[in-house]
Amino acid sequence: MSHTDSTSGALTALSIKALHQGITSGQFSVMEVTQAYLERIERLEPALNAYITVTKDSALHSAQTIDNRIRAGELTNPLAGIPYALKDLYCTAGVLTTAGSKILHNFISPYDAHVTTKLKQAGGVLLGKNNMDEFAMGSSNESSAYGCVLNPWNAEHVPGGSSGGGAAAVAARLTPMALGSDTGGSIRQPASFCGITGIKPTYGRISRYGMIAYASSLDQCGPMAVSAEDCALTLNVIAGFDERDSTCSTEPVPDYTATLNNPIAGLRIGVPKQFFAEGLNNEVGTIIQAAIKAFEAQGATVKEVDLPNSHLAVPVYYIIAPAEASSNLSRFDGVRYGYRCDNPNDLTDLYKRTRAEGFGEEVKRRIMIGTYALSAGYYDAYYLKAQQVRRLIKDDFVQAFKDVDVIMGPCAPTAAFKIGEKINDPVAMYLEDLYTIPVSLAGLPGMSIPVGFTQTGLPVGMQIVGNYFNEARLLNIAHQYQQLTDWHTRMPAQFA
Ligand code: GLN
Repeated sequence: MSHTDSTSGALTALSIKALHQGITSGQFSVMEVTQAYLERIERLEPALNAYITVTKDSALHSAQTIDNRIRAGELTNPLAGIPYALKDLYCTAGVLTTAGSKILHNFISPYDAHVTTKLKQAGGVLLGKNNMDEFAMGSSNESSAYGCVLNPWNAEHVPGGSSGGGAAAVAARLTPMALGSDTGGSIRQPASFCGITGIKPTYGRISRYGMIAYASSLDQCGPMAVSAEDCALTLNVIAGFDERDSTCSTEPVPDYTATLNNPIAGLRIGVPKQFFAEGLNNEVGTIIQAAIKAFEAQGATVKEVDLPNSHLAVPVYYIIAPAEASSNLSRFDGVRYGYRCDNPNDLTDLYKRTRAEGFGEEVKRRIMIGTYALSAGYYDAYYLKAQQVRRLIKDDFVQAFKDVDVIMGPCAPTAAFKIGEKINDPVAMYLEDLYTIPVSLAGLPGMSIPVGFTQTGLPVGMQIVGNYFNEARLLNIAHQYQQLTDWHTRMPAQFA
């Protein structure tokens, strides 16, 4: 194949499954696929700012090696030769890893994260590192030290956050798959805002070794791609026990593609009344209701469920997440790695100025809230109390799952908002995660699938929440919906 625009356009429109078939049948090479993506990134990425680093040389080098290994029969994984991108908080040996922060502006990781290793072993081709909110704190990608990411559907709007770079890159077909991370909604909400499919697995499903920590009792890795099937293929590679992460589960990993075609009939859907109350944009609500109806038409039953403590989730999260962040971020001190201030007077001055100059506003705000909440005298009133309420929120879900198989509702209260609209109002920004945070606090798997568009052409995602380790069921349900609809395959006009 030649590398004309139309050819590269055709290759970058293919699903992971179709790419795999084309590569293994010799229809095109890994090199051709890689070049097609790199060409597209070069041409279109500047309009989005979705990548902090593009690893062009190493991508071309791996493409060559992987082509040879596939031909020699050494690599057979469905991800062999498939390009991918990583949120810039996954360590990649020899490649800049910034977490979206100035404090890591020069950090070349000496080792690979667990997921990086897994994707390498499967024969994936790393295209680069995606832009993100600084240390994954945010819902709009406006807190990155590397500038905001623009939404491919409308450049005046945010792509969501904090995995907004990956979500925008998938939506614009600047990668077929990107790994994001989700602490309170950071895979699901940007997937919703960008019209793509994303899944946050159960807490502990995927090792976080080598993933720069935000809030350790919540952080989870997960894939973002065009379809549920592509997410399933990715999860097959990255899920599973790793002894280097003590919170990683030993629960066996099923083949997530094996059950994709199971029927919907008999599925019991729970719809939490609290997710359709005040705060939800009407248009978004109507689109979500229509999607739920489509499942009913396939033989699912719908029942209202009660999550009486869900209104406490955002305040609880904004104690727990900043508390854990203040502890995790204490390691950035200018001594070991990353940014260091000029001419410090003494060690205290070095710490203070390095952190004052290296961290952005939102990160500092959270370190202050978190340090306060953990301090002697306040710990019991805030952190401990928040953990107690967290248990109540989790128990609500445990109760609900006695009667239903999955829970469906909106992913976010609105479609993508405008750049600048909420940046000076932290509380309005925090409320963006109203429906995703309860799921995170409970440690449950949740996904977002595209289910429609607003009048103004912005995508809307529906959240599907499953019981612990029921990722296969979520992917199955999403796949069935995607067999009957084409929301997920639509592309933003400018990038079609
Ligand atoms: N928007 C939420 C926050 O700022 C969630 C971010 C995330 O999931 N990483 O904390």
